[in-house]
Amino acid sequence: MPLAPAVVQKLLSLVNRQRLVDTVVDLVNIPSKTGEAGAVLDRLATLLTSEGFQVERPTGGHPVAPAVAVRFDTGRPGKTIQFNGHLDTVHLPFVPPAVNGDRITGSGSCDMKGGTAAAVEALRVLRESGELTGGAVLLTAHDMHESPWGDGKQLETLITDGYVGDAVLIPEYMNAAIPVAGRGLGIWRIVIRRPGPAVHEVMRPQDEPSVIDAASELIARLRQYGTFLASKSEPDADCETVFVGQIHAGEIYNQFPPECRLEGTRRWLPGASRAAVEQEFRELVQKVASRTGTTIDLEWIPVRDGFRLDRNAPFVDMFQEAHAAASGGRKLPFGPKPFCDDCNAFWSLANIPAITHGPNAGGAHTLNEWVSIDDLVRVAHVYSLTAVQFCDPHSA
Ligand SMILES: [Zn+2]
Repeated sequence: MPLAPAVVQKLLSLVNRQRLVDTVVDLVNIPSKTGEAGAVLDRLATLLTSEGFQVERPTGGHPVAPAVAVRFDTGRPGKTIQFNGHLDTVHLPFVPPAVNGDRITGSGSCDMKGGTAAAVEALRVLRESGELTGGAVLLTAHDMHESPWGDGKQLETLITDGYVGDAVLIPEYMNAAIPVAGRGLGIWRIVIRRPGPAVHEVMRPQDEPSVIDAASELIARLRQYGTFLASKSEPDADCETVFVGQIHAGEIYNQFPPECRLEGTRRWLPGASRAAVEQEFRELVQKVASRTGTTIDLEWIPVRDGFRLDRNAPFVDMFQEAHAAASGGRKLPFGPKPFCDDCNAFWSLANIPAITHGPNAGGAHTLNEWVSIDDLVRVAHVYSLTAVQFCDPHSA
């Protein structure tokens, strides 16, 4: 059902630009490194409570920073749309908020307090407009998103505890395409050791293996493995990979070092089992250990499972309609999801369709984050329009 032009206009006119900017500045102003986002979640809860929303604080297994959940329910039949954002930021020095022309800068402005504030504004607009004819809007905000400090478990617990809608919008800073596939990600950390201490190279015990030789053997083996993994590919998700990002051993040129450390990633296609991927990697590493006479400790840090979106799902059409209505008729192409985000968790744990779509923004994971205010207004508009479509009890 196409959106009536009057509804499109009405929702846009209700997006309050100043209120939206104030919300972003409020959220950015409270430092919230991953694991320590309690104060900013408290702030959001206070704000929404003061506006008359019913706020729940489920811990999701992370009691120092309980999540925020608001269910705005029409009390009439219809589906529930969920807006989900994380309010934790990567561990970098805090940059306070500033507003300059169309830009808000500061920690988390891009990733993703700006987008979360736009979702909050959409919730307000939907309540004020009275245009939600049925169903409900569920807004959730949480901590523990950014790896490696967070493991995504807080959201996973919220999902398994029932804090889920029938479809999800995630306002991460990406909007040029609708991502339909994304790879899962694990981080690995390896320490290769031999028994003895560090010694001068001429004192090297002849029966002890070189940890650097073992590392080079491991790297060669990983390169072979990578060639094999490259055959596992699909157009929208690229291919499976193993990547070595760091290697460290030794202190000076003529010391025989006792250990060598390596770190990297492993990415896999949606549908592959996280446990099977880990098992295969562990076996490969242990083979190198026994062949080289070293011991190898492997720390495996799962980040997210893979992601897939059914491009024929009615939700996708409704989102396209809403996007077109807010963007002069422009529809979005489908594309890959280059980074892991929380859509992956909704897909792999609950098979719920989730679309990543957020504001024009940049500088994620740097000290120079920014977000466009004009585009936050657009995102709030698109989110409210999508909700009107999706929650309508007469829609598909
Ligand atoms: Zn993010």
